[in-house]
This record gives sequence, structure tokens and C-alpha cells, in this order.
Amino acid sequence: MESDNGFFGRFGGKYVAEVLRRPLDELEAAFKKYMQDKDFLSELDEIRRDYIGRETPLYYAPTATKLLGGAQIYIKLEGLANTGAHKINNAIGQCLLAKKMGKTRIIAETGAGQHGVATAAACAKLGLECIVYMGEVDVRRQQPNVASMELYGAKVVPVTSGSRTLKDAVNEAMRDWAAHPDTTHYCLGSALGPAPFPDIVREFQSVIGQEVKKQAAERNLDVEALIACCGGGSNSIGFFSPFIDEKKPRLIAVEAGGIGPNAGENASRMTGNASREGIMQGYKSRFLLDDDGQALPTRSISAGLDYCGIGPQLAELGSTGRIEFCSALDKEALEAVKFFAKNEGILFAMESAHAGAEAIKLAPKLTKDKAIIINMSGRGDKDIFITCPVFRPAEWKKFLIAELERLNASKDIHDANLMNDH
Ligand SMILES: *Cc1c(COP(=O)(O)O)cnc(C)c1O
Repeated sequence: MESDNGFFGRFGGKYVAEVLRRPLDELEAAFKKYMQDKDFLSELDEIRRDYIGRETPLYYAPTATKLLGGAQIYIKLEGLANTGAHKINNAIGQCLLAKKMGKTRIIAETGAGQHGVATAAACAKLGLECIVYMGEVDVRRQQPNVASMELYGAKVVPVTSGSRTLKDAVNEAMRDWAAHPDTTHYCLGSALGPAPFPDIVREFQSVIGQEVKKQAAERNLDVEALIACCGGGSNSIGFFSPFIDEKKPRLIAVEAGGIGPNAGENASRMTGNASREGIMQGYKSRFLLDDDGQALPTRSISAGLDYCGIGPQLAELGSTGRIEFCSALDKEALEAVKFFAKNEGILFAMESAHAGAEAIKLAPKLTKDKAIIINMSGRGDKDIFITCPVFRPAEWKKFLIAELERLNASKDIHDANLMNDH
């Protein structure tokens, strides 16, 4: 389960510049030490309970089950975690660890802004300085998340190099870390990057799977499959983690199928036509690369799945077959959002809806005595700027225009600018 010296089979490793070796080694030693430390673990437990709101419920979905006519559908409501998604599990874990290590400054990379928001919230809670690197293009596209990060007191630094998106933000964060290793911890957002990050992120996210294992046993469920969406792989590997060494249940990871199977149309690192093995940003895994080994543009309706790399442990478990990979198209994910909202009163994040879409396909093929569990990694409130233009395009446009006119005419915003800065 744990890596073998940073490797999962032939994937993983620590392909970094010499200056990053020391901070990575220091982090690994501290992680090993504190994961055995009773005080650290009990403080983490308390924060999980009182701040994050754990444990999150395992919800039986009666109407979805009836309509699909096969296996019982259960949903792990990870979207009920404070800040709205699973990312806070990792952010709190890493920031608490960094604090114990005596670090005062946390840096993070973010693409869509979800990991930035989780890290900013964790830093506000724990009293740490927070700097978030974000591609300039993403800063422009993701203003609501930028505003949240600033509310939590973080400084958002727009990155203007390269394609000005996530991969450039990662490079910038690595550069910062190499320059300030004594004061600073780099809080990486998914189960990827150089060792020991894939192990650390999996362990902090494995609280999802541990709770599910207990919750499923309490109800005597005959679980046929666990289904999770898969971007970098943190919610899926955390959800699957306690089951990996067992033969059952089936573990199904759903990638972003975008609009089709070809290069540039999706973010399917395991199942897409452009999937290659390679080394990027410090680790060996599967990536979407062109013939020259350069990262290809990716495409997905869900910002959180829109990345060209996947965690090394997922790549390995995909190659051994323990984790089955498939994909859901943008339009299937949108249908899944509608299906669970209307029939269960549960609004999936676009990312999580990819797992929902696979459950809709799988459930009817199974018998009624079996259960499948979907990890709803996040809730969909954050996605109104994506879903509304699709579901109600004309009305949404009119709304935005009217909002803009209202803001231009209003003097309230100017007054708000005069608010004292505490
Ligand atoms: C970021 C995000 C994901 C994808 O990241 P993983 O590391 O693959 O879990 C999935 N769901 C939500 C809600 C997210 O914010």
C-alpha cells in the first residue's frame, strides 16, 4: 500500500533538482514521526470532527436505486465537509504537520482554485501565512475562488510563465520552496508529485475509506463496487485505500471523458488515445503527451479533473488491474448532476458527477442484493457558472448582464471599498 522507497511498481519516484531533496527528505521523516505521535493524531481527529465536520454521512439513495432497478446506491457525502469538498482533509493534515515542523509559511498551487481555497481555509484555522500560486489565466477564469482565498487571508500570486495555468503554478511553487525550505511547507493538492507526497496525500485522504468501511459494515452491505472520479487521484485513492489489499469490492475510477477519446478532447490519462508513460513535475506516471513528450492541452467540463497527469499509485494499480479505469463524457456528467439533484435532493460537483454517471450505467447490470458506493467528492454549489449556462443559457446571460448594470449603477461597492481592513 505504502510506496517502496517512493515507488509504486515502476511509477512514482523523486525526480527533482538537488535543492529540493533536502526539504522532501525532511518532510518524509516528519510525516513518519508524527503519524506515530498520539498527540498529533488526537489533535487531527479533533479538528476533523469539530472543524471539517467528520464523519461525513453514507447516504442510502432510495429513489435512484428504484429508478435504476439494480444494485442499491449509496453515496458518501464528502461534499458536506467544511469548504465543500474532500480537499480539506489533505490541506488540514499537511498544514498541521507543517506547523508541528515549525514552519510558518504555507505555499500551494491551484488550478481551478479548489485546493487553494482548502489550503487558505486550513491556514486561517491554524494561524499560518498562506501564499497560493495560480496561473494568470486561471485567476481570470476562477474569480469566485480567488475571492474566497483572499477572504481566508491568503495571498494569491498570478503566474505569468508558460501557459499561465496549473502546471506553471506547480513550477512556481517548487521554485519558492527551493528558495525558502526552512520556513516554508509546500502543501501539494493531490496524490501526485515527487515522493513522499503521494503517500502523504493518500494517508490524509484515507479517512474517507476508513469511514466507509465502518459504515458499510454497520449496515451489513454486500458492496460490489466503489466508484470515484479521478483527477490527480486524491479522493479516489483515499476512498479506495483500505480496500486495495483485499480482493473485493471492485474499485472503479472515472476519468474526464470530455467531448471524445482523441488528444485534446479529454483528460483521460489511463483510457484516452494520447495516454503515455513519462516523467513530469518530479514523478513517473501516465500523462497526456504529444509525440515530443510535451504535455497536451486537456479538456473537461469539470475544472478539477482537467489535468494532464495522474498519481503514480493509481497508474500502478491501473496497470495491475486492481483499479478499473473508465471515463464519463461531459454530457453524461451533466445528466448525472440532474438525476441526483432531482431524485435525491443532492447536488453533485461536476467532478463527482463523473462517478455518478458511471453508477447510473453500472447499477442496472447488478442484482438488488448488491450495493455500490459513490464518493461524492464535492458539492455542486461552486459550479453554477458552469451548469447555469448549460441548463438555462438565455436566462443566465440576461442575469449576468443585469448584474453588471446593477453593479455599475450602484454606489454600494464604493462604500464597501472604504471598509476598514482588519
Ligand atoms: C479537485 C477535485 C477533484 C479531483 O481531484 P482528485 O485529486 O482526483 O480527487 C474531484 N472532486 C472535487 C470536488 C474536487 O474539488
